[in-house]
Amino acid sequence: MRLKKAVNIVKSYDKKIYIAMNAEIEREMIPLLLEKRVADYASWGCDGLIIKTPEFMKAVSKSYPDFEIVASVGCHIDSEKKLRYYHSMGATTFVLSTELRRNHEKIKELKAVASQLGMKTEIIVSGTACYKGVGNCNFFKYFKDAFERITLVDSDGFVTEKVFGNPEKGGGCYRPCLYLDDPIVQQLVPKDVLIEIRKEKNLNERFTLAKDVPSLIEIGIDIFKIQGREYPVDLVAELTRIFRQIIDKSLKSKNPDITQELREIEKLGRELDTRRMIYTGNLREKLYEKLEIYLKTKSTS
Ligand code: SF4
Repeated sequence: MRLKKAVNIVKSYDKKIYIAMNAEIEREMIPLLLEKRVADYASWGCDGLIIKTPEFMKAVSKSYPDFEIVASVGCHIDSEKKLRYYHSMGATTFVLSTELRRNHEKIKELKAVASQLGMKTEIIVSGTACYKGVGNCNFFKYFKDAFERITLVDSDGFVTEKVFGNPEKGGGCYRPCLYLDDPIVQQLVPKDVLIEIRKEKNLNERFTLAKDVPSLIEIGIDIFKIQGREYPVDLVAELTRIFRQIIDKSLKSKNPDITQELREIEKLGRELDTRRMIYTGNLREKLYEKLEIYLKTKSTS
């Protein structure tokens, strides 16, 4: 019901709304989700869904051909081959892999293919990029003993499950890549894997592409995304306002003066980093709590 309210609010402003269903969805859940969820979203006037699971995309596009289907950032689309694959599964928009965020040549190339296929191109301009690109990291799997199954029962009795610690299953990640020196990380991750991951720069980096917006508009990017989860609404709203200004200026001029906006975004970035550090610290504590319980259980069994 809260979702329905959200749809109504968005529609009262004559804006678009997309619902994220971008965890990995088990094949047997698909008919149920179509019947119990997607049917409602369509009847409420949602514009589309953000999806990661190819079979689910296919099923939605078959039953709801007018729905926009966004191939989520979790699809890690970084090549023409992958782009064509998700298009064949019904995607009408694709989110560029975070791995390519600074590679304008590649962005141009994929945008050209997407346009040929009649797809829109979306890029995250403010968010975090996982190691090897969102949806492409395996590091979190070394912490599977701390995964926590959470059963969710909606107001209509519909039951779903997510797994905390596993970003592919709808839960967050413990972000162990951000505290590699921690004793528990050292204990659970093979030495050679740790050596390799230490060679990487910017693990789970928060990034902004604010200064790239004018060139991205020139390339023809259709949609700019600002990741909002884990940050307070006022902070995300302010970020959105500034990006809007940059976009508007870039639409008017090829060389817009965005100095002031970049300064404001840098300032907001410091605030985002502080929030992220606090949140990551809490995740680390939770991981410790989970694993200590597990280790104790193991030693007494
Ligand atoms: S936060 Fe770190 S460990 Fe988790 S998925 Fe991203 S890169 Fe991998």
